[in-house]
Amino acid sequence: MSGPTKETHLFQAEIRQLLDLVVHSLYTDKEIFLRELISNASDAMEKLRHLEATEKAVHDPGLPMEIHLTTDEAARTLTIADHGMGMTREELVKNLGTIAHSGTKVFLEAIKAGKGSPGTMIGQFGVGFYSAFMVTDEVQVYSRSWRADGEDLRWTSDGVSGYEIEEAPGQSRGVRVVLHLKEDQAEYAREARVKGLIETYSNFVGFPIFLNGTRINEVEALWLKNKSEITEEQYQAFYKFAGKAFDEPAYRLHFSADAPLAINALVFAPSENPERLGFGKVAGGVALYCRKVLIEASPVGLLPEWLRFMKGVVDSADLPLNISRETMQDSALVRKLNNVISKRVIKMFEKEAAADPAKYRGFYRKFDRFFKEGVATDYANREALAKLLRFESSLAEAGSLCGFADYVSRAKEGQQEIYYLVGPNRESLDSSPYVEAFKARGIEVVYFTDMVDEYVVESLGEFDGKKLVSIRHAGVAMEDQAVPGETLDEEQTAALCQFLKAELGDRVLSVASGKRLVASPVIALVPADGMSPQMRQMMRAMDESFKDEVKVELEINPRHPLVRKLAAAHATQPDLAKLVARQLFDNALIAAGLLEDARETVNRMNTLMEKALG
Ligand code: ADP
Repeated sequence: MSGPTKETHLFQAEIRQLLDLVVHSLYTDKEIFLRELISNASDAMEKLRHLEATEKAVHDPGLPMEIHLTTDEAARTLTIADHGMGMTREELVKNLGTIAHSGTKVFLEAIKAGKGSPGTMIGQFGVGFYSAFMVTDEVQVYSRSWRADGEDLRWTSDGVSGYEIEEAPGQSRGVRVVLHLKEDQAEYAREARVKGLIETYSNFVGFPIFLNGTRINEVEALWLKNKSEITEEQYQAFYKFAGKAFDEPAYRLHFSADAPLAINALVFAPSENPERLGFGKVAGGVALYCRKVLIEASPVGLLPEWLRFMKGVVDSADLPLNISRETMQDSALVRKLNNVISKRVIKMFEKEAAADPAKYRGFYRKFDRFFKEGVATDYANREALAKLLRFESSLAEAGSLCGFADYVSRAKEGQQEIYYLVGPNRESLDSSPYVEAFKARGIEVVYFTDMVDEYVVESLGEFDGKKLVSIRHAGVAMEDQAVPGETLDEEQTAALCQFLKAELGDRVLSVASGKRLVASPVIALVPADGMSPQMRQMMRAMDESFKDEVKVELEINPRHPLVRKLAAAHATQPDLAKLVARQLFDNALIAAGLLEDARETVNRMNTLMEKALG
């Protein structure tokens, strides 16, 4: 059959690897290939609809926008045909032979890094077409492009090393994929089996699907229907279809509004977060429709960036059909949609969190970074979003999460501030000298342990009119508390502070006695405009030459035995007192996570031990 134009091509090395993975993975859900091929057919027809609106001439106009499947048990084949945009020779090479899609690349990298099994990731990462080789010995793709100068072509491959492209006269516009099934996959040539699959996976495809001439799918815009007419199963199936998802939705929001805009929205929050597995930023999963016609599958600006994990559909009858990707972002209408929908979504989370706090905490543990990103970047929704944040706190059991509202409800009468501390983990925060005084007074301290938290709280600034105050910083007003036990008097304290300031020089901004400390002798406080250890670490990671002498305010505890002994020693044993003063200072820096070079500290420590042992 080979005509004069027959060409033989090798798959790109990455595609060979990919095929090898897809075919040989212990992938149990092989049936998913059908969903992928039907969804490709549907995409190609969506694109054609757009071309018809924007291009003067489209080859073979007026063909029915339908997907036709044919089974042939005797020949062991399954055929999927569409009248979409088709592919030219170049497009066949590019689309079905190279890694043209970033999704495929990400998929490969993720698999190589051992981030998950290929099975659970097919589809999510756009390896769609190649999944056909899980069930076939050979695949033929007949294609005629919408372009006037397109050719009638046939692409053939066994999915191993390469493929052939040759002329195949007699095609109508679109693509027809013929699957020659493997012997042990003959089930996919059985009509009943294929019918079941269409009903499971592709019921919501926006074009009629026919199987051996009989219409199968419902083609209904579920989002336009009344809530009361929709079953839980239909919602679930729609989520999997619209979100190309394998998990169950965690939350759902289905609403319609007439003012200020006509909106019908059906959106879901997934239960698994792919970004958490290290797959990089996902593309927005809420598609934009106008009266059931897809405008854009992943529209920029429809939702705030941080809501990119949401999946589903927004349909607005007010949108002009010819809105383009380019103008979408600048469209006042899209901005209004964004505004309305993001507020609704946040409200939905708030309600759900109140209704089932434990479920929300579980969800939050996986999706926290999105909410934090929202607080840091989505100014318009910041306040509302702050209510959705969860964290540990000094008064709550380790491992449990609460929100700012809980904190405020527990706060002492008259407490005008929300105290927090950022650190690497709960244990280190719990034993931090900063927390001491707050614990002693029964004042709750919020613990932030995520790398990004500091930036997030700083962007937030306040909650419910209460200022967020880092207890690492100096200047936290704290009421006096009589602590039993001996203490230095004012004169002794002043003399000791003076001695310490002289000894430590400009490494300290000030030395003063404080009311915070209970069990620690001294504490190093960062000035309110100073950098925290986490921030410094980040700066150093970004800029190797970053050097910034830490300057702290030193607060001493006049009741601590070591401090009292030091006060006595600075007159009687000045040399030893100097050593102790410096060591005390370094210890405070260590406790604060601020000591950058410990060499001197260690030497001094050794000297001190020598002296202690006589
Ligand atoms: P994805 O659909 O995620 O982009 P696939 O591997 O399924 O990845 O398909 C690769 C590309 O091949 C598609 O992006 C599309 O350009 C092209 N393609 C696949 N099926 C069809 C079809 N039925 N009609 C036109 N083009 C198609």
